[in-house]
Amino acid sequence: MAKVIPRPELTFWEKIYFVEIFKGLATTIRHAGKSLVDPNHFTTLMYPEVKPDLPRDYRARHRLMMRPDGSPRCVACFMCSTACPARCINIVAEEAPDKHIEKRPVRFEIDLLLCVFCGFCVEACPCDAIRMDTKLAVLSGGDRRGFIIDKVGLMDWNPKDYPADDLQSQKAPGGTLNAEALKEFHSGTYH
Ligand code: SF4
Ligand code: SF4
Repeated sequence: MAKVIPRPELTFWEKIYFVEIFKGLATTIRHAGKSLVDPNHFTTLMYPEVKPDLPRDYRARHRLMMRPDGSPRCVACFMCSTACPARCINIVAEEAPDKHIEKRPVRFEIDLLLCVFCGFCVEACPCDAIRMDTKLAVLSGGDRRGFIIDKVGLMDWNPKDYPADDLQSQKAPGGTLNAEALKEFHSGTYH
C-alpha cells in the first residue's frame, strides 16, 4: 500500500522567504566565526593529502576473493553478472581441474565506468567470491580502457590490509590463517 507523506504547511514568514534567508545566513556566519576562533571546529580533511577512513562496508572498488593456493574463489556461475543492473561484468568460464567447483573464470572483468556500485553482485554471489570492501573509492585513469579491471587487478590485494577477524581474507596467500587453510585445501576439507 502506498505511504502518504504529509507536506508541511508553510507559515506566513516562511512563505515570504526573507526571514528564512537571514536565518540561513546567520548559521553560516556563526560557523565561519567559530572556525576562525577554533580551526578544528569543522572536521574538514585536507584532501587529497589526507584520505577519509571509509568504513569497511562502504561499497568501494571490487576484489575477487582467493582460495588458500591463490586461485579465485569464483566458480564462474554468472550469478553476479546476471544480477548486475549495469551489465558491466564480463565473465568467460572454463572447466576447472577441481571436481568440487567444476568451473572457474578464465576472464573476469568489471567496467568500473558502467558500474553503479549497487552491490548486487556481492549479494548475488553464492560463495563469497566477490566483495566491495577495498575502501578504494576514488578511481582515476587516463583512458576508458583503464577503468576495465581484470581478474589480475581484482585479485591484487593483500590480507594484511584486512582485519584479523576477516577469516576468508586471512586464509588467502600471505594471510595469518593461510598455512592452516592450505592444509585443509590439499586434504579436500576446505570450503
Ligand atoms: S556493484 Fe552493481 S553495477 Fe557494479 S558490478 Fe556489481 S552489480 Fe554491477
Ligand atoms: S563472483 Fe560469485 S556470483 Fe560471480 S561468477 Fe563468481 S562465483 Fe558466481
